Amino acid sequence: MQTGYNMDSDKKNTIIKKAYAKVNLGLDVIRRREDGYHEVKMIMQTVDLYDILAFTRREKPGIVVTTDRDELPGDENNLVYKAARLLTETYFIKEGIKIELQKRIPMAAGMAGGSTDAAAVFHGMNEMFELGMSEDEMCTLGVKIGADVPYCIKGGTALAEGIGEMLTRLPDTPGCMVLIAKPNIDVSTKFVYENLHAEKLDCHPDIDGMRAAIEAGDLRGVARRMGNVLETVTVKAYPVIGEIKEAMMKKGAWNALMSGSGPTVFGIFGEEEEARAAYDEIAGANLAGQIFLCGWAGR
Ligand code: ATP
Repeated sequence: MQTGYNMDSDKKNTIIKKAYAKVNLGLDVIRRREDGYHEVKMIMQTVDLYDILAFTRREKPGIVVTTDRDELPGDENNLVYKAARLLTETYFIKEGIKIELQKRIPMAAGMAGGSTDAAAVFHGMNEMFELGMSEDEMCTLGVKIGADVPYCIKGGTALAEGIGEMLTRLPDTPGCMVLIAKPNIDVSTKFVYENLHAEKLDCHPDIDGMRAAIEAGDLRGVARRMGNVLETVTVKAYPVIGEIKEAMMKKGAWNALMSGSGPTVFGIFGEEEEARAAYDEIAGANLAGQIFLCGWAGR
């Protein structure tokens, strides 16, 4: 496979996996549980924006993770390393593995970049070491790494409940242009949830209605119901998120929303020309440092 990157692995013995980012078409928080976790109800959707992971066997035992980003070391804090260690220990894997990670997904952005890399490790090592895990078995193990990992293992369109790990597969969301813009700010997920007053929210997105719209193949109905309760915290604290949404709407987006705990904003467009005009507007006004024009990614 041509990746356009230089990888020093021997291609013959290398497995390549794409790790797709997600957006939340809808994100509702039902309540804060006594253990501090939040019970959520979300519509998850993978987008055609991905990291690339290359897996190579090593003669020596042990896990080696490399990345192409100085700010993201391949040490034991990297979710790629954590997933590889969990699998090595669970399946008593004696051989060593090298995993090279190329990041494209914006980091700390609300796009599950780390979780999807971990999910790709489950797929890659399952194949490389012939572990014979079903997707459901991968999910049972994957949730130990993070609540979004099971969804990332499955991908596509899904309803996620519980802390995000209870999944119901949905039909693919109808195709469209998706514009993704990540402003140059860092938003801590912890800050967002700590400042969310889940019990006092007076407006909740219509997740059941969105599910019905997806099942009916009604993209307008999906766009109309896009909503994310975490915007109540972030848009107030970081006005640039609201400005990006406005720029997308002004250029013809069917709707625009912050993904996850932000700060990434995505917009849905029926026309490529309008999506490109929004891209230019956001880039020209310097509202976002990372902008991508893509579509949905199915399973
Ligand atoms: P979510 O949508 O699940 O909240 P996110 O997009 O907000 O995820 P990530 O990109 O997954 O956030 O990263 C959050 C933090 O996790 C990063 O700041 C980084 O320090 C750490 N991290 C560990 N492993 C990875 C990885 N493989 N890719 C990105 N971040 C990672």
